[in-house]
Amino acid sequence: MRTLLVDRDRFPRRKVCGGCVAPAGVRVLERLGMTRWLPPLGNTLESLRVIARGVAHDLPIEPYATVERAAFDQGICEAAIANGAAFRDGVTARVLPDDSVCLGRSGEEEVLRPGVIVVADGLGGSALAARAEFAPSVRKQSVIGVGTLLGSCPVYAERGAITMVCARGGYVGTAPSGDGRWSLAAALDPAGVRGCGPIEALRRVLGESDLELPEIAKGQLRGVGNMTRRRRVASGRVLVVGDAASYLQPLTGEGMSWAMACAAEIGPHAEAAARGEDVARRWEAACTRLLRARRVVCRAACTLAAHPRAVRWVLGAGRGTPALGWLSRRLCWSPA
Ligand SMILES: Cc1cc2nc3c(=O)[nH]c(=O)nc-3n(C[C@H](O)[C@H](O)[C@H](O)COP(=O)(O)OP(=O)(O)OC[C@H]3O[C@@H](n4cnc5c(N)ncnc54)[C@H](O)[C@@H]3O)c2cc1C
Repeated sequence: MRTLLVDRDRFPRRKVCGGCVAPAGVRVLERLGMTRWLPPLGNTLESLRVIARGVAHDLPIEPYATVERAAFDQGICEAAIANGAAFRDGVTARVLPDDSVCLGRSGEEEVLRPGVIVVADGLGGSALAARAEFAPSVRKQSVIGVGTLLGSCPVYAERGAITMVCARGGYVGTAPSGDGRWSLAAALDPAGVRGCGPIEALRRVLGESDLELPEIAKGQLRGVGNMTRRRRVASGRVLVVGDAASYLQPLTGEGMSWAMACAAEIGPHAEAAARGEDVARRWEAACTRLLRARRVVCRAACTLAAHPRAVRWVLGAGRGTPALGWLSRRLCWSPA
């Protein structure tokens, strides 16, 4: 198929993200032969430091790779181009009711009628705004994502680990970003953010464990809206993938891996949709089969993380036992 890839941002673009790629995501990239176009996947992290109510526990995990999202996503575009796709950045797409696509750039518009449309426009995407059947169902009480890159490792973070601070008002994760900087990414209770703003909400999450918020340069903290959402994933010649289809929370650091694992399966469904077949059920079933077990793990981890007293108790009771190490490894999405 001839493929045109468009993005409304200019590349390389920034994206709020912790930048940790789960082992299953790394396997997808290797299986597709993508790694030669990507910047080297950074430090492999095999430890998770959890801090709850002032107490830190170091847990073993399956190895996560770290990436700086701007460079990583640029590499993915280069891989697409090297494999025959055309790429236009700074172009906003709108999928029209008749399955044609309006592409807008600097006030000029062009309408295309592709055989199939794959929408991967994330949590803040606008590509399906004109298609009522794709209106997402967003959990208004769900956490709000914020993130930034830091010049140095925060004092509370372990250098060779993913550090996660859990509190009643949300959680803050820190990891090396693969380019010498540190990504700080957080999921915050929306009431807290509305009440005092994201910086103060971050400060309170860390303050519950007597930790100080690292200095964040003015205007450097970026945000995304309520994160937990779901929508139908196909209709007519339109297929949806990645965060645009569904997202829970970033606690287990696998949103990129979910998106890539589903995207890697989309080819035959896209071909069938281009032939005029109704693929909605099959595509939905394929995504559910891939992600169902991981959604259960992620939901369970998020429920526990929202109760820092319980986190502290579980970690304290299990300290040093093989069961706790087994459990923390199961938190990671590893290839089957
Ligand atoms: C705080 C936080 C921490 C996270 N940490 C991690 C982590 O450590 N590990 C992990 O795996 N995942 C993490 N995630 C999740 C991860 O960032 C997402 O799951 C992943 O980026 C999803 O990729 P995507 O391609 O679906 O969407 P995105 O990466 O959001 O890409 C969507 C693209 O669509 C473009 N777009 C939007 N509308 C239009 C339009 N109308 N026309 C054209 N282009 C459009 C946007 O410009 C954007 O470039 C985190 C998320 C948050 C918020």
